[in-house]
Amino acid sequence: EVTASIITIGDELLIGQTIDTNSAYIAQELNKIGAWVRRRVAIADDKEAILTTLGDEAKQSNILIITGGLGPTADDITKPALCEYFNTELIRDEGATTNVENIFQKLARPITERNLSQGLVPANCEVLPNGRGTAPGMYFNQEDVHYFSLPGVPHEMKGLMQSGVLPKIKSVFRLPAVAHRTLLTAGIGESFLADTILDFETALPAYVKLAYLPAYGMVRLRLTAKGEDEAAIKKEVDEKFAELKSLVKEWMVADEDIPIQEAVVKLLKEKAKAVATAESCTGGTIASLITSVAGSSAVFNGGIVSYANEAKKDMLEVKEETLTSVGAVSEEAVTQMAISACKKLKTDYAVATSGIMGPDGGTPEKPVGTVWIAVANKEGKVKAQKSNFRFDRGRNVELTVHTALNMLRKAV
Ligand code: ATP
Ligand code: MG
Repeated sequence: EVTASIITIGDELLIGQTIDTNSAYIAQELNKIGAWVRRRVAIADDKEAILTTLGDEAKQSNILIITGGLGPTADDITKPALCEYFNTELIRDEGATTNVENIFQKLARPITERNLSQGLVPANCEVLPNGRGTAPGMYFNQEDVHYFSLPGVPHEMKGLMQSGVLPKIKSVFRLPAVAHRTLLTAGIGESFLADTILDFETALPAYVKLAYLPAYGMVRLRLTAKGEDEAAIKKEVDEKFAELKSLVKEWMVADEDIPIQEAVVKLLKEKAKAVATAESCTGGTIASLITSVAGSSAVFNGGIVSYANEAKKDMLEVKEETLTSVGAVSEEAVTQMAISACKKLKTDYAVATSGIMGPDGGTPEKPVGTVWIAVANKEGKVKAQKSNFRFDRGRNVELTVHTALNMLRKAV
């Protein structure tokens, strides 16, 4: 098996100022090509730490991918550390230097010695040209271990992974064929889902793996198979995937790896229906998610954010009497909001939310996390549902949004 270590370098990672998204991206890309990431390490911009970590990881992994610390500033220490590690020195690389010069010329900025130092690389490296920035990627091969050093800037790192690292790894190693299929479920808990598919999971052959990836009221299920014969692997995964789909069809939102808002937009497009939103406690998040999907203009007419009671009355015709008797967080209120939004925005459906997101504002009858969601259609038919989330504010909003999108999907 081909094994890899991902080493992310940067003081900002260790104090939690920057979230290490680089190693997540690299891990996903390596996983796709069938290389096994056995460890991810984050370390400081510190020469000793870099040397120790490189030494340790090289004993166990075939591939080491390093990001960060390639900038021209004093705290960027990766290149001197690599020189010491490989017992070599920095030399000027023509291509990398020209790249820096070209970038500065385009920006019409004067170039300094410091900038030009980005054209210096350890003498034993093969330069991987960076089409998105000044710091070149670097590849080293020593004693059957393959090292890659990439800039920390995520956009540049991603470009270099695609243009330099992955092609190199594929050319060096004979990697197994990998096939993936992912589906998305909503409205069923992880453990309940596990019980539902227990027999299926137990019967899976050893080379087919099932992963549960839960997030905010939804669970992704991913089947992965690795093997020699690409066509056979793909066929096996497709067959198992069909079986899995039929087992979870009641909760299945999508049979591909897309977010729920994309699944909802797709469905609305297929049925040629339009939707509107009437949001209180989610403050426009549902509208924002829907419009984040390219092409959503075909199915989304607009949304009303009616946060205050006055706004619910003025913009969405919620009755004074409803607000004084049962309050804004009620079946009556969300029903009126959804019907009104449908009418005002001339859509086939509308979804409405109203709830207490916390941390304050709960009462014994309506504790924090109490949420009413309604979906109306243009005939005035409404489905309303109450949920009790009881997490923190951010999580309560996420859960409300996903629940609302799922109710909308079921109504369409
Ligand atoms: P540059 O040539 O731009 O200086 P560099 O290789 O020196 O690049 P850093 O200075 O370490 O990279 O980081 C550049 C930017 O990338 C910073 O904004 C940093 O927060 C971000 N970054 C660094 N490492 C990671 C990481 N592992 N995940 C996400 N972002 C990161
Ligand atoms: Mg840095």
